[in-house]
Amino acid sequence: MVTGAGSGIGRATAHALAAAGATVVGVDVDGGAADRTVEELARAGAPAHAYAVDVTDRTAVVELAAAVESEVGPVGILVNNAGVGMTGRFLDMADEDWDWILGVNLDGVRNGCAAFGPAMVARRRGHVVNVSSGLGFTPRATEPAYCTTKAAVLMLSQCLRADWRSAGVGVTAVCPGVINTPIIDRTRFVGSRAASRDRTVQAFRRGHAPELVAEAVVDSVRRNRAVVPVGVESHVGWGLHRVLPSRLASRLGALDQL
Ligand code: NAD
Repeated sequence: MVTGAGSGIGRATAHALAAAGATVVGVDVDGGAADRTVEELARAGAPAHAYAVDVTDRTAVVELAAAVESEVGPVGILVNNAGVGMTGRFLDMADEDWDWILGVNLDGVRNGCAAFGPAMVARRRGHVVNVSSGLGFTPRATEPAYCTTKAAVLMLSQCLRADWRSAGVGVTAVCPGVINTPIIDRTRFVGSRAASRDRTVQAFRRGHAPELVAEAVVDSVRRNRAVVPVGVESHVGWGLHRVLPSRLASRLGALDQL
């Protein structure tokens, strides 16, 4: 099962899992987009099912877990991928901006783990992939909300991995760098960051293909990996995160990089 399967990394991951032999359940708040991904898979001969669900809606995600179990079968692989972007300094952000991005990027992942985790743990079989980001370990003055959500997803994944290891359930945090997807077209630019929209969009257009992340997701399940940076910039960030003194990390984070 892949959340955010209607676009970008989620859509590519749905295709990669289908190519590896999985029956795919594609979930998206945009039901039409989920349907399109599932139709693409069906045309390629892969069994797939679409559900329109908002991952921030806790009750709806619990109901989704029950519906998928009875209509499709037990979920072996859950990819909590649905997410949104926001850029802008902390003091420029409205309360609503903060609640919006925390709701999708963090609570959405938590809701998926809470709704689908119990059956996996009870069956003693399964794998959860949570899509974090290279920004989950790279502090940036201009991305405090996005970085915070992705750092939290990374930590939640590591905690669940420690917890569910003895139950035979693997958990991975996949941490992509800059990936060329439509996320940037829907990203909120707040405060003075609005002026850098064109430059940032161009940088994303030069990013990696979403298929690179999709391959990493499949590989992370096969090899039961813990933390998986994707793209050279994310690998460099992960390396720096582990060796760089924090006073240098904050100086680097003050640079306006995109
Ligand atoms: P995208 O915008 O192309 O796709 C995201 C999908 O999630 C969309 O189809 C959207 O409708 C869906 N979605 C959004 N809110 C939802 C909700 N509340 N409930 C259900 N579905 C919802 O974005 P993408 O680039 O493919 O991003 C996928 C994930 O990868 C996100 O978590 C993002 O933060 C992460 N990521 C992206 C990049 C990048 O450079 N593109 C880098 C690192 C991490």
